[in-house]
Amino acid sequence: MRTIWSGCFPAIILLFCLFFFTMGTAFSSPFTPVDAIILDAGHGGHDPGAVSVWDDVTYYEKDIVLDIVLRMKAILGQRAPDLNVILTRDSDVFVSLEERAGIAVDSVSSGGASGGTGTIFVSLHVNSARSASAQGYEILIKQADRKVTFLDEKSPLSAIKRWSSYKGSVLNTELNKENKSLASSVRASLATFFPAGRDRGIIERDIYVLNYSRMPSVLVEMGFLSNKDDAWNLRDGEWRQKMAAAIVSGLLAYRFL
Ligand SMILES: [Zn+2]
Repeated sequence: MRTIWSGCFPAIILLFCLFFFTMGTAFSSPFTPVDAIILDAGHGGHDPGAVSVWDDVTYYEKDIVLDIVLRMKAILGQRAPDLNVILTRDSDVFVSLEERAGIAVDSVSSGGASGGTGTIFVSLHVNSARSASAQGYEILIKQADRKVTFLDEKSPLSAIKRWSSYKGSVLNTELNKENKSLASSVRASLATFFPAGRDRGIIERDIYVLNYSRMPSVLVEMGFLSNKDDAWNLRDGEWRQKMAAAIVSGLLAYRFL
């Protein structure tokens, strides 16, 4: 017996190794597992974003999005304490689009267990339109035909290790897939939390922070400050808390897809 077992032992080890190697290959992608989230509150400082006056009070997009980002951070701290949550701003300061994109590139090196390549980027905004009847939420993603350069002289070692085995075209195709998947998760969650809300869909748009992002990224336009009903919601603390919880649920659903 002892002789048979000792003969089998190396074969069993080999089988185990093959099994785990195959599992690893099947479940790994250039952008997973997700271990960090960048929350980007749009505008700030001298850039107020959308502005509307309701009942003699002036409301600014920059304040609403920051409030909801801070609520999301608190919810994530409770629901996913293992995630590294990075804010592009946590106060009323101006952050340029280049700086926001730079924070995203830098986070690739300071993410978490995966070396940071498993980071997602979520930008929060509030809409405004000339037509007071425009209302609802929409989720923006980068234009699929915009190609992202993944590796350059700024790339940290972790990104080189993770991405150098992929062709640039493969990384771009995968990123477009992940963008859609992330946007769909957030959209599904918003539909669940706000069944009466107006869903304007997922839209590809030419937006700086999305087009230059090397990670799955979405921009959520949560409602129209120029619409009476939406503005009523955007002013309300309970609604903001629900919106924060809805987006977080969508992000976490994507994380565990
Ligand atoms: Zn905005």
